[in-house]
Amino acid sequence: MKRKLVLKLSYILTILLTLALVKAGNRAVTVISQGLPVHRETCFIIDPGHGGVDGGATSCTGKLESAFNLEIGLRLDDLLRFLGYQTKMIRREDISVYTQGDTIAQKKLSDLKERARICNETPGAILLSIHQNTFPDDRYSGAQVFYPATEGSEELAKLLQSNLSQRQAKKAQGVYLMEHITCPGVLIECGFLSNHQEEAKLRSPEYQKALCCIIAATAAEYVED
Ligand SMILES: [Zn+2]
Repeated sequence: MKRKLVLKLSYILTILLTLALVKAGNRAVTVISQGLPVHRETCFIIDPGHGGVDGGATSCTGKLESAFNLEIGLRLDDLLRFLGYQTKMIRREDISVYTQGDTIAQKKLSDLKERARICNETPGAILLSIHQNTFPDDRYSGAQVFYPATEGSEELAKLLQSNLSQRQAKKAQGVYLMEHITCPGVLIECGFLSNHQEEAKLRSPEYQKALCCIIAATAAEYVED
C-alpha cells in the first residue's frame, strides 16, 4: 500500500514538473524522468484518429477533428515519453496511413487495417486512440471513453472515464479498430466539437495539456498497478 502511494505521488509530482518544464526543453525533462520506476515492456500506441483524406468530424468553428486529434496525440506522446514509456505514434502529421486503395472508402479501410496491424505487431502494446465527438444537439459535452473486448481494456476505460468526466465508459460497437486489435486499448472521445464552449476549450493549448496529463497519469496508474 505504501509503495503504491509513493508511486502515485511520484506520478503526480512528475506531471506537475512536466507542466513546469515544458518550456525548459527536452534535456531537463529527460534527466528527471530517468529516476521513475516504469514498465519498460509497455508500448503505448498513440492513434490520432483520421488524417489526410479523412478529416473526421468538423467542429462548430470549422476545424477538422483530425487536427484536434493530432495536437492532443502529440502532447500525449511527449508526456508518456517523459514518464519513461515507449510510445509509437500512428501519425505525426496530417496524413492517412493507408497502403492501398483507389477510392476514399478503400483508402479509409486500408488506413484502419494499417493502424490495427501496428497495434497487433507491437509487443506490450496498449492503444490510446484519440477522437472527438459531435452531436446534432449542441447541449452535450464531456469526454466519452469506449473499450474493445480485449483483456484489460474495460478496466483502463473505466479508470480513464472516472478521471475525465462523469459519463459511463461504454463498450465500442461497430468500430473497426476496436474490433481488430488483440491488445488492450481505449478510444477516447475527448469532447464534443458541436458544443461551443467545449470546442473552444479543446482548441486551447492549456486545456489540451490538462487533458493529456489526466490521460497519461491514468495510463501510468493502470500499467503500474
Ligand atoms: Zn473520429
